[in-house]
Amino acid sequence: MRTFKKTILASVLIAMTTSIWAENLKLNFRSQSKGGADAKVKTERITWKPEKTAIIVCDMWDDHWCKSASRRVGEMAPALNAMLNAARAKGIFIIHAPSSVVDFYKNTPQRKLAQKAPFAKAPIKLSTSPRWGTAWCWTDGRREGVLPIDDSDMGCSCKGEKCEIREAWKRQNKLIDMVKGDALTDNGQETYNLLAERQIDNVILCGVHLNMCVLGRPFAIRQMVKLGKNVALMRDMTDTMYNPERPPGVDHFTGTDLVIEHVEKFWCPSFTSTDITGKESFRFKEDKRKKSRK
Ligand SMILES: [Zn+2]
Repeated sequence: MRTFKKTILASVLIAMTTSIWAENLKLNFRSQSKGGADAKVKTERITWKPEKTAIIVCDMWDDHWCKSASRRVGEMAPALNAMLNAARAKGIFIIHAPSSVVDFYKNTPQRKLAQKAPFAKAPIKLSTSPRWGTAWCWTDGRREGVLPIDDSDMGCSCKGEKCEIREAWKRQNKLIDMVKGDALTDNGQETYNLLAERQIDNVILCGVHLNMCVLGRPFAIRQMVKLGKNVALMRDMTDTMYNPERPPGVDHFTGTDLVIEHVEKFWCPSFTSTDITGKESFRFKEDKRKKSRK
């Protein structure tokens, strides 16, 4: 009995120490009012508890049917991995979400962690509408109108000959480490279970591609906002599928910025990885614009 009491006391002490000493995250959130061209940008510093926060890594695959998209993911992956290491050290829970290739990770501790999380009933019905092998949350016309870029050609940004659309991915990018305590799933219910089990209210989305999967997947922005989570987009750790030859006819990176602004207006605030790493935010080498909105 005494041992039992000591164990309880020890756990209480550990819990107290962790909650007192785990440094709160200080995130500089940017959002926009819903006006047109004169939309006002608002920034505010928000404090989140790391133990109540998860980062979901969306579709950072090993390869992509578009050579340019694949090259950009390869360039972003080491920076994203460094950010995840910093986030883990702060006590943030990491969920890897490489859609449609989770079977590659069958029997890994990360996959098992997601599968064994006890069922938790979501406050709303999770989306079951199918697209690309998962449930999908489509563009919500009443809430967000249409996206500011035309991706109806699927957004190959290569100059000259366009890439052929095919299922090019087999696993998550090898440059992203999976560590003990991380989870892996592409399923909305499993994601919800993992968050409920840890009483996590704050969800950060990063990965690709913002105009498609980072908004639409069942673990991504639209679904998480509709579930009532506090959601934020890490805006320097994302990319879009956008072909500059399509409307509105801006360069690829300006196209990405337009989608970030759309998200800030209609879905959730954004911030940069600097708030997690203390280092400069990520920027693609091919982004030759003088002024960055990052
Ligand atoms: Zn391409």
